[in-house]
Amino acid sequence: MPKQLTDLDLKNRRVLVRVDFNVPLDKDLNVTSDARIRESLPTIQAILKAGGRPVLMAHLGRPKGKVVESMRLRPAAQRLQQLLGSPVKTVSDCIGSEAESASRALAAGECLVLENLRFHDAEENGDPAFAAALAKNGDVYVDDAFGAAHRAHASVSGVPRLLPAAMGLLMQKELDAFHKVLHTPARPFVAILGGAKVSDKLPVIENLLAKVDILIIGGAMAYTFLVQQGHKVGTSLVEKDLVAEAGKVLAMCRSAGKQLLLPLDHVCAAEFKADSKASVHVGDIPDGLMGLDIGPQTIELYKQALQGAKTIIWNGPMGVFEMAAFCRGTEAVAHAVAKSGAFTVVGGGDSVAAAEKTGVVKQLSHVSTGGGASLELLEGKVLPGVAALG
Ligand code: AMP
Repeated sequence: MPKQLTDLDLKNRRVLVRVDFNVPLDKDLNVTSDARIRESLPTIQAILKAGGRPVLMAHLGRPKGKVVESMRLRPAAQRLQQLLGSPVKTVSDCIGSEAESASRALAAGECLVLENLRFHDAEENGDPAFAAALAKNGDVYVDDAFGAAHRAHASVSGVPRLLPAAMGLLMQKELDAFHKVLHTPARPFVAILGGAKVSDKLPVIENLLAKVDILIIGGAMAYTFLVQQGHKVGTSLVEKDLVAEAGKVLAMCRSAGKQLLLPLDHVCAAEFKADSKASVHVGDIPDGLMGLDIGPQTIELYKQALQGAKTIIWNGPMGVFEMAAFCRGTEAVAHAVAKSGAFTVVGGGDSVAAAEKTGVVKQLSHVSTGGGASLELLEGKVLPGVAALG
């Protein structure tokens, strides 16, 4: 594990913190959800308490290397100031003399938010000269942006090689939760994977197979497996070029004595539309219909598998949960995960949204703030942002 915040000498130091302030803004540039800013508060407050001067750097949106007025970080900085109840300053760039002078002028109790990192192409290119320019704004470095830790960007993997570096409290919470699940899971360990594309999740399945006791598959990605087993799936989403690979996964499961659960029945419709007529079909799906959610028998099967679990990881919805007619499977799984009493980790934007919609977030052990980063951890990869922390 990388160094922790408490391993760094913070007093009177400029603490350059990479945070995830990629918040949604409305057309009047008001922050419409400050969840990401709130998640970074413990680290910022801990630095202030230790007498450090936080200099925060973040990206917002996709300005693609140009200054885009509507993507400035000032609204996020203002929200942070309200939440902290102490001064938060801003500057018009993230490198250069204005930023460096502002960082050196910070008084005790004050924070500085540097301008959007992605106004420079050099950030996403991981340019070492840009990393060196950023590093001039701090004496030590802290990474608290788990959501960006899978990117080898200058602020994520360049700056920590130039300054004494540690992980922030949010980063630590994320890494601890995934470490526990992946390396010391209490058993039985059940993984639930869903979503649209099997191609996105195959590396995760292959890595998790060796670790889990039961693998539950739902969402459109289940149909590629069902086709491999000889089922008819109508017009459901299937990745034909991955049917053979799905067969290999099923064979690997059999030889390793792992249980892989697939849907037994399906909520189907003729069209991918919220108001199309839904019907339940057991086994095969009739021609002209597509599977858009798991059916009631499958819900029962998955609930039973989750009941005795001691560790659960969930990534991806069981159906088109955004549409009322096809959200029951995902909601039932959310409730079953929440009620299981297991150590539960939920990752990925859609499963987190489903957990929020179902009102079960408080009953989960860990809800990840990073969709892409959490998937890469589940794939068994080392995140560039974590590797750079040493
Ligand atoms: P992913 O980004 O791969 O995790 O997929 C999430 C998306 O998969 C959500 O927007 C769901 O609506 C969609 N999805 C889940 N199940 C199905 C299905 N059976 N058919 C089509 N889309 C689905």
